[in-house]
Amino acid sequence: MDLDRFPRVRLGHLPTPLEHLPNLSRELGGPQIWIKRDDCTGLATGGNKTRKLEFLMAEAQELNADVVLTCGATQSNHARQTAAAAARLGMKCHILLEDRTGKTDTEYTQNGNVLLDLLYGATLERHSQGADMNGLMAQAAERFGADGLTPYTIPGGGSNPTGALGYVNAGVELLEQSIELGLKIDQVVHATGSTGTQAGLVAGLVATDSNIPVYGISVRAEQAVQEQNVLSLAENTAKKLGCAGIVQPQHISVNSDYVGPGYGFPAEDTIAAIELFARLEGILLDPVYSGKAAAGLIDLSRRGHYPKGQNIVFLHTGGAVALFGYPDSFAYS
Ligand SMILES: *Cc1c(COP(=O)(O)O)cnc(C)c1O
Repeated sequence: MDLDRFPRVRLGHLPTPLEHLPNLSRELGGPQIWIKRDDCTGLATGGNKTRKLEFLMAEAQELNADVVLTCGATQSNHARQTAAAAARLGMKCHILLEDRTGKTDTEYTQNGNVLLDLLYGATLERHSQGADMNGLMAQAAERFGADGLTPYTIPGGGSNPTGALGYVNAGVELLEQSIELGLKIDQVVHATGSTGTQAGLVAGLVATDSNIPVYGISVRAEQAVQEQNVLSLAENTAKKLGCAGIVQPQHISVNSDYVGPGYGFPAEDTIAAIELFARLEGILLDPVYSGKAAAGLIDLSRRGHYPKGQNIVFLHTGGAVALFGYPDSFAYS
């Protein structure tokens, strides 16, 4: 596997720290919990999309793009990081937002990630739930083309084999850190949505023979569907790496028990997980992704799913900016 042959533009503060969480580990009374701080990738306050954008934006530059298009939910962290990357690289950014929640309060529709999208100079289009976002992006790309611009379209979440290379790289980075620390990692746990994070990690960790299992906590799709989607992208990512055929179905493991009321709606245990991380470790999670993954980690640890003494790495994928889109989920005032 040779990642260096793919064009890459440095956008993130890498490597991100791998840290022990002593207070949370003590509270849960099960495995030792470690955290991989991909909420600290730097760009636009950080998050997992920055690693993907290092490869996606390099491809956009190679194609001489001058406008980048992408899509996501209203409070998309991917949209925010793409807007920042485009600003940094001197490209325009046009974002199509899908209303996946029906929430109409101004916090949700204007604050958090939306505020930052606009601050970074991106232009926005809003669409209703279930709109054909890929079709609409193709139409928008055509409009930019007709104006003499060269558009580059990034799929939702930056999840294609190019974007997933960012998480192949993260897998290699984590493996190097585990060797440096002398840490045997028994599992990596993280939120899975558009699948690029899990697919890239699995491809990278299998290609390096690391034997570190990856466990995705779904924020939207049911288990069988999510596993199939992750597998398909992991296979295509491995193929891009020149390692076709190495990823097998048994490498892909997803749990969909913590989705709660649905995508973009935190459950009670999501909020409890956000509060626990904040109050025990001073770490901010988010209501859409990392809070749900943490709810899964906490519940599984408390129920004795992990033998004592195991080392579980929580991959923090970022997203805390969305807290400001969800003040009503926290009954504090
Ligand atoms: C996008 C996102 C995820 C999910 O990553 P995928 O690669 O889309 O599966 C998890 N956490 C946060 C905070 C995200 O923004």
